[in-house]
Amino acid sequence: MKTGPLPRERLAIHFALSRAFDHKGLQSQFISYSVVLAFKSFLAKMTPLMCEILRAWTSLEHSQWYEKPKLVKLRENKLSRIVEHAYRTVPFYRRLYEDLGVDPGKVKRLSDLAKLPLVTRKRLQEAGIEARTAIGTDLNACTMQSTSGTSGMRLHFYEDQTSGVWSDALNLRLLWAYGYRPFQRLCRTRVNDPCGRVPKPKISDVGLWGFVRRHGMKQILYNTEPAEAVLALADWRPDIIFGNPAYLRLLAKSAKTNGVKVKCKTIITAGQLLDNSTRDFIGKTFQAEVYDHYGLEEVGGSVAWECPTHYGYHVNDECLILEFLRDGRTVASGEEGEIYITSLTRTVAPIIRYATGDIGVPLDHDCKCGRGLSLLKNIQGRIMDYVITQDGKWVPSISIISAIEEIQGIEQYKVLQNEDRTIQVLVMISNGMESQVFGEARQVCLDLFGDTPVRILKVDRVEHASGTKFRIVESALTKSPVE
Ligand SMILES: [Zn+2]
Repeated sequence: MKTGPLPRERLAIHFALSRAFDHKGLQSQFISYSVVLAFKSFLAKMTPLMCEILRAWTSLEHSQWYEKPKLVKLRENKLSRIVEHAYRTVPFYRRLYEDLGVDPGKVKRLSDLAKLPLVTRKRLQEAGIEARTAIGTDLNACTMQSTSGTSGMRLHFYEDQTSGVWSDALNLRLLWAYGYRPFQRLCRTRVNDPCGRVPKPKISDVGLWGFVRRHGMKQILYNTEPAEAVLALADWRPDIIFGNPAYLRLLAKSAKTNGVKVKCKTIITAGQLLDNSTRDFIGKTFQAEVYDHYGLEEVGGSVAWECPTHYGYHVNDECLILEFLRDGRTVASGEEGEIYITSLTRTVAPIIRYATGDIGVPLDHDCKCGRGLSLLKNIQGRIMDYVITQDGKWVPSISIISAIEEIQGIEQYKVLQNEDRTIQVLVMISNGMESQVFGEARQVCLDLFGDTPVRILKVDRVEHASGTKFRIVESALTKSPVE
């Protein structure tokens, strides 16, 4: 892979240096050109990864403004290449397509994708990591990553430099769109390892880029006490907080209760559905603009991000193709569909027509901001965020959260559904509010879950299981939605 700045960047540096020395002098031109060459050689040798990330990010900064036909062409070229690559080098896809008599060579247009079979997480997991990895991959140059395991099926996969580069470049693009600039401080909340191990480094955690990432970003683990986490935030004063909305809500509540002032410019929520009351509450408490983000580790991280105008979510079209299906058919604009994803950049562990288990609403409108990237109205939630009632009704976590948050006196809570459909609501109650909370919670549960048996239990603390995403609603019935 080539490294070094893009020609236009080189020209820009050359131009700037020529101006700085003496724009007419031959000697200064010679000096400036030598400096540029030395700089380029330094970048290429010392920071090849950083160069690749900056190069990918620069291309994304341009392509997001392409007209739709130009973007479609770009994506179709990438699609035919990745399908051909998967068929040629990945045993899992070769077997799958041969068994079904599918000809991957005929996948040229975006609409041709429907000719290929859908793939579930269970199927990928059963195939084993070797069968899902491209033959000839240098595993020493890869890191092993895994999904968070919230569905009960942790999926392991290899990540190479290319997918790491695109993942960071996509994050950089959305951060830039939200006003992030170098030397601003970032804070991220994240899953804690159940055994207390140090998280495995990503491929992009090395070199100068890794240094910049580590020193510009602090992490707070979900099992950190909210009061302690809020004090750390007040001390560090991050410009941007990237975190799970349920956990950020806890932090905002703690900050308010304890009178701790935390102010940041931007909050980016991810990992769980963001309801309007949480958006308002954390936005007001931290005096920040809140943007939502939708990402999945197994498809390379960032999938879609809320437009700075808040009109909808932009899909990272250059790296992904999203399909919205219901009963196997593509839904119309504005309708709910299950999200299936094809990655255009994962070559070591290709992902083609992968059932995410998430539900979203696509839009075929143009966005007010002028980006050509396709739009999502919203993410309706993970299938696993639903509770299923006795009479078969699916209640989304967003409805549950909105109703319970209205009850005065509940400090923390969690809703758990067992396999026999019974529901437990764990509540941490403010002093002297027991009878009021129990009375209101019973009524809310009746409205939400009808005849489904519900037990409301008072607890001293709502525990969060290590090694999983922070979830307020967990149902044993919907935890493996994509089998
Ligand atoms: Zn937009």
